[in-house]
Amino acid sequence: MKITFLGTGTSHGVPVIGCKCAVCQSEDRRNKRTRSSIYIESGDSAILIDTATDFHQQAVREGIDHLNAVLYTHAHADHIHGLDEIRIFTRQNSMPIFGSEATIEEVRERFPYIFNSTIQRGGGKPDITTSILKPMKKRVIEGLEITAIPIKHGKLDIFGYRIGDTAYLTDCNEIPESSLPLLKDLELLIIGALRHSSHPTHFSLSESLEIIDSLAPGKALLTHMSHDFDHEKLLRELPGRVEPAYDGLSLKNLH
Ligand SMILES: [Zn+2]
Ligand SMILES: [Zn+2]
Ligand SMILES: [Zn+2]
Repeated sequence: MKITFLGTGTSHGVPVIGCKCAVCQSEDRRNKRTRSSIYIESGDSAILIDTATDFHQQAVREGIDHLNAVLYTHAHADHIHGLDEIRIFTRQNSMPIFGSEATIEEVRERFPYIFNSTIQRGGGKPDITTSILKPMKKRVIEGLEITAIPIKHGKLDIFGYRIGDTAYLTDCNEIPESSLPLLKDLELLIIGALRHSSHPTHFSLSESLEIIDSLAPGKALLTHMSHDFDHEKLLRELPGRVEPAYDGLSLKNLH
């Protein structure tokens, strides 16, 4: 299994529009963070987690030419607004999208033109089929073992995902006790770390590091980061097995 970080930024993206801070003005390409999403390849299949606002740019940048399914973490704009861009992959077949009942319902409400069968397809309408995932239940999608992990995002109950021995937990500020057994023996933990100071709906850096410490994955990568973090500076500050991810980072041979 191979994972590519399409985006590692928080909802505004980095650079933030109009911001003159050192990180937003930085020439280091690792400080350019498009909206968070990962692309998972296994054999001939490929799965996307979230269709970020920047999906078009991400897909062109990474040379993505195939996609078999989409998993949604939740329906916030930065995670779903690229949905229309997967139209290119639905010319032959419809694209299955998966998520919690609430997420799928919200996606259907936000994109009525896609799901209204009286609207003609020509002129721009992806062909999408929706599937609801049950939390905590392992399911094989495109040959990959996937478990939806309930996590808290402020008041929202959203999904993180375990794919094989990798977990992807973005937009999270609390992991319920009952979800912890699903996060044992991880080879890789990808976890959101918004900024230094605390936030009502996202883990801060120190909170993420505490979770990483308690789950003890083989390796941990941070995502959904704001302009609080200069990549190089953060990399130097973090403990050994933790690194900030960056757009375009790829990891191969995951189990
Ligand atoms: Zn987000
Ligand atoms: Zn900035
Ligand atoms: Zn969110």
